[in-house]
Amino acid sequence: MQIPDFRKKRTRKGFKNVSELRKDLVSGEWVIIATGRAKRPKAYAKAKRKKFNQPISKCPFEDPQASGNGEPLLIYYEEDKKKKVKRSNKKVKEWSLQVIQNKYPALGPGDCSKIYKEGPYELMDGAGFHEVIITRDHEKHIALLPLDKVEEVVRAYQERYLFLKEHKCVNYISIFHNHGREAGASIAHPHSQLIAIPVLPSDIKRSLQGAKKYYKDHKRCVHCTMLKWEREERRCVFQNEYFIVYAPFVPRTAFELRIYPREHKSNFEEMTDKERRYLAEALKEALRRLYKGLKDPAYNFFIHTAPCDGKDYSYYHWHVEIWPKTAIWAGFELGTGIEISTIEPEEVAKFLRKIK
Ligand SMILES: [Zn+2]
Ligand SMILES: [Zn+2]
Repeated sequence: MQIPDFRKKRTRKGFKNVSELRKDLVSGEWVIIATGRAKRPKAYAKAKRKKFNQPISKCPFEDPQASGNGEPLLIYYEEDKKKKVKRSNKKVKEWSLQVIQNKYPALGPGDCSKIYKEGPYELMDGAGFHEVIITRDHEKHIALLPLDKVEEVVRAYQERYLFLKEHKCVNYISIFHNHGREAGASIAHPHSQLIAIPVLPSDIKRSLQGAKKYYKDHKRCVHCTMLKWEREERRCVFQNEYFIVYAPFVPRTAFELRIYPREHKSNFEEMTDKERRYLAEALKEALRRLYKGLKDPAYNFFIHTAPCDGKDYSYYHWHVEIWPKTAIWAGFELGTGIEISTIEPEEVAKFLRKIK
């Protein structure tokens, strides 16, 4: 298919400025794409990175239980992928993935039904869950894992999500992954985290409100609208039967990528077995291309999905956002919430598409 040159459709064609402001279709927020100070894609790979070295001998995730963590909440074994925990020394050696409670949890047991007062303020118990999803290999992060293992990671996300969403104090579940020290990882061994909370986070609220408003105004999903456009545009990086990976028109950071189910789906946890495999492939492809193209950048990724508070979110479209650590928020970003990217997402997609 001929890829149309979207620039020709622009009203201000031929006008080359130092930068452009792009408006996010969902949140209404603006970002700056500073094309005037544009860097080539490869420039992001050259940035000096401190290697995040933690020797296996000091790694608390080689044998999480021996390092003082509780029994696994979920464990997959090498040969037989889903058995509930029966810990014998032999079995522990053979685990392939395990989910444990975070040793230093952000949330824990509590009563989420009470709101307390303290002068003009309100507060409540930090009631919720904080879990860690650990894959077995000390070195191999998701970009380097075979597809079967990536699928296990996604399956663990889904299993824990389905289990925790039933809890009365759980109204939103955030699943995220920090890779590299600059992205906030304190343990080098690859792991993801899950935090289940009683309140709706403000970013999610804004994202839901934006999607709802667009749905009301246009009678269609804002994300489906973007997907239809991105599929044919120059920002698509990878796609398979069920998922699409693209560099968003309004990135919040250089090299940001998003993964969407191609069909309109509101809930991550309702993914079928078949879809899950395709999601694993899309996630691996996105991370592998960043790994190769930018020489192992630090990154965060997280899932944005409909809350599990029992309300109707059928207008929402779940997705994964991947944010490589390509910039540091400074005064302007902190003071305004406007981020500056020094590379166009069109360049990013072109660069990452070519990576084999
Ligand atoms: Zn380790
Ligand atoms: Zn949609």
